[in-house]
Amino acid sequence: MSAVIRHDWSREELLALFDLPFPELLFRAAGVHREHFDPTQVQVSTLLSVKTGGCPEDCAYCPQAQRYDTGVNAQKLMDTDAVVERARAAKHAGASRFCMGAAWRSPKDRDIPKVAAMIAEVKALGLETCATLGMLEDHQAKALKDAGLDYYNHNLDTAPDYYDSIIHTRQYQDRLDTLEHVRNAGLKTCCGGIVGMGETREHRAGLLLALANLPAHPDSVPINRLVQVAGTPLHGSAELDPFEFVRMIAVARIAMPRSMVRLSAGRESMSDELQALCFAAGANSIFYGEKLLTTGNPDTERDQALFARLGIRPMEVAVDAEDHDHPGTVHLDIAPQCGCAASA
Ligand code: SF4
Repeated sequence: MSAVIRHDWSREELLALFDLPFPELLFRAAGVHREHFDPTQVQVSTLLSVKTGGCPEDCAYCPQAQRYDTGVNAQKLMDTDAVVERARAAKHAGASRFCMGAAWRSPKDRDIPKVAAMIAEVKALGLETCATLGMLEDHQAKALKDAGLDYYNHNLDTAPDYYDSIIHTRQYQDRLDTLEHVRNAGLKTCCGGIVGMGETREHRAGLLLALANLPAHPDSVPINRLVQVAGTPLHGSAELDPFEFVRMIAVARIAMPRSMVRLSAGRESMSDELQALCFAAGANSIFYGEKLLTTGNPDTERDQALFARLGIRPMEVAVDAEDHDHPGTVHLDIAPQCGCAASA
């Protein structure tokens, strides 16, 4: 298996990878991983939700959709000062990048100056900036870029041919359009999806196909394992076989060799052994923590213990000019499973 960067994958090729005997698939993915990254380093990422809940969309997995009774209390957009305070704490805790997520279908033009102000002030702290705000128009993406935004997260969620089973209030093409606007504005992309939503292996291959055949591979590819939240339509779904999740990670690594493949939502419920298999399969980034924490917390301690047991260390905090999500990035706060800071 060559680690050539390709944008012409077929679903059959990806399915053939999924179908490999498990040890063979891991061997190939690990080889690709080593060609581009130090496999003993894992990037640590978190995210701050700057506007939570009350979303008009109907994403079947999401506790922030206002139409589902999930107990999430809608909160308005945070004040810039409060965000900056969190960003300052994040930097103090070692973060080099600060991600701001808002549960919007899309920001209104009048929201952009407020978010732009946050971005500018966070940037002024010497942090890289990242945002996930829903669908973006061209001019909005450019305004955010001008304010100092570095990265934009927007997930494809699932395969095009399974999308209608999950979301009805926006189209797949809307997501592709937003990603195009983000790329056109010169922003770096973070884009992945969710598995365990009742999709088939063909659908999982279809999601990776859609990601790998984008004009540019996403700099980061978050792979979320569905967090089933009571009140959402997907609550009660059959659990995905953990080995199938590892296969998803491995095929993502092979198809997008230079991207950061990120274990995102759902990691909290994974065993240490499953996470270790994911790292062996090429995952090299994690989201952790549901809340911004500047000191030790159970999640952090568990992660540190796992890293120590596996001989893995967090990527060094260092800004570089690579065209992929750079090592050492530390995002802060809620672990999302969508592109809109939705979280369990
Ligand atoms: S996933 Fe995002 S767009 Fe969908 S309901 Fe949740 S917050 Fe809204």
